[in-house]
Amino acid sequence: MRIGIDLGGTKIEAAAFAGDGRLLLRRRIATPAGDYEATLAALRRLVDEVEAELGRRGTVGIGMPGALSPASGLVKNANSTCLNRRPFDRDVMAALGRPVRFANDANCFALSEAIDGAARGAAVVFGAILGTGVGGGVVVDRRVLTGVNAIAGEWGHSPLPWPDDAERPGPPCYCGKAGCIETFLSGPGLAQDHWRATGETLDAAAIAARAAKGDAAAEASLARYEDRLARSLATVINLLDPEVIVLGGGLGQIARLYERVPRLWGAYVFSDAVTTRLVPPQHGDSSGVRGAAWLWAPEEAE
Ligand SMILES: [Zn+2]
Repeated sequence: MRIGIDLGGTKIEAAAFAGDGRLLLRRRIATPAGDYEATLAALRRLVDEVEAELGRRGTVGIGMPGALSPASGLVKNANSTCLNRRPFDRDVMAALGRPVRFANDANCFALSEAIDGAARGAAVVFGAILGTGVGGGVVVDRRVLTGVNAIAGEWGHSPLPWPDDAERPGPPCYCGKAGCIETFLSGPGLAQDHWRATGETLDAAAIAARAAKGDAAAEASLARYEDRLARSLATVINLLDPEVIVLGGGLGQIARLYERVPRLWGAYVFSDAVTTRLVPPQHGDSSGVRGAAWLWAPEEAE
């Protein structure tokens, strides 16, 4: 049995899977916000409950915000800030009394879709998260590519490529730079861009809904978004050349992106033809727990 845990800022979700990938049990609890020790205790309780109910012991994989720094061994870049600068992996393994594997939540998303989701069968997969923030994960031959700095796939804090004059220097970003991809392609980034152009305060979903009804201003904002996404993904294709790109996060639910963005990216990719597929995720919200569970191979679990 393999147990996957998705550790989020507001909820912790656990799911247990049989050897064939079948879902056995799913549990969700609130994250003890801002409390590191309580988070460790909650993880232990959750695993204890799942194993008691199923009467079996499982492997445990955890998808988490941020990353474990290979340099310091401590968590970095987590928006659940109580994890930062903590030896989270060692503490969890001590609490659960077993080896545990960890991956960034974007990497778990990419792994879930690459193993048996929308990118099944592809050798190189890029999973892009377009939500409150912009993140990404890379899977090569069904394994997460973590990287020597544990930032492989983190494209959100690179500058928007091929900016026009109106896009320079770009909005300030919390990372300290300006004009990061995240400031344009996150949900708040799209909302802010629409506000700058129109004075209207609408969230990303409302902009997409209005564009679908023919609203000209919303259509223009979404068209700008699509061209920026095409440019940003073109640099990913130039560097990584994935067979499949899967879009996760709230904006990944905007259906027209899958048709329009591949028609735009050819102008930017350094190739005569681009056969990369841009696809919606198959597992939606389950990708976090699934990808975390898949950090262990079926043959490694009993
Ligand atoms: Zn940034």
